[in-house]
Amino acid sequence: PRPDLDLASLVRTIPDFPKPGIQFRDITTLIGDAAGFSETVRRLCTLAAVHRPDFIVAVEARGFLFGAAMATAMGLGVVPVRKAGKLPGVTIGVDYELEYGVDRLELHEGAVMPGHRVVLVDDLLATGGTILATAALMRNAGAEVAAALFVIDLPDLGGSRRLADAGLACETLIA
Ligand code: 5GP
Repeated sequence: PRPDLDLASLVRTIPDFPKPGIQFRDITTLIGDAAGFSETVRRLCTLAAVHRPDFIVAVEARGFLFGAAMATAMGLGVVPVRKAGKLPGVTIGVDYELEYGVDRLELHEGAVMPGHRVVLVDDLLATGGTILATAALMRNAGAEVAAALFVIDLPDLGGSRRLADAGLACETLIA
């Protein structure tokens, strides 16, 4: 354990990606650093363990990196939530609003069952649209969402406020 490690210093900001004016937080430098990645996963696992989840639910695509590592460390299975058309089996889906237009997230039917308790994981919380859609998918499948965990929160984009208003417990490592 490296409780002193400054994870924020391992995240890069890339200006004007994917569009002019966007300051993209790049986590590839964090996960490429052995100590940084393992400490990130350790801290996420500490937050998740409190909720005694049955599964870790990881959001495409960068959520997969953290969620998969957490699941193996915690002795749990990982359930992927993916963009439309990527999962091969029968899916349930939910549409959600983007800044321009709508998008769709999907879950394999039967991947989580009524009564299961899950923790959601993604790399970054911006407007909260992605994670609220993921939480809706879990509820539609009958699972209980104990909490949503993120490596990074961008509080100015309002996601943490939206999650609080929706009653979804949320914790982040870097704000
Ligand atoms: P939201 O739905 O909260 O507005 O956006 C969060 C989603 O977009 C997450 O799945 C996250 O991976 C992605 N995302 C948005 N902005 C950034 C960014 O600056 N850096 C990274 N790594 N992901 C971002």
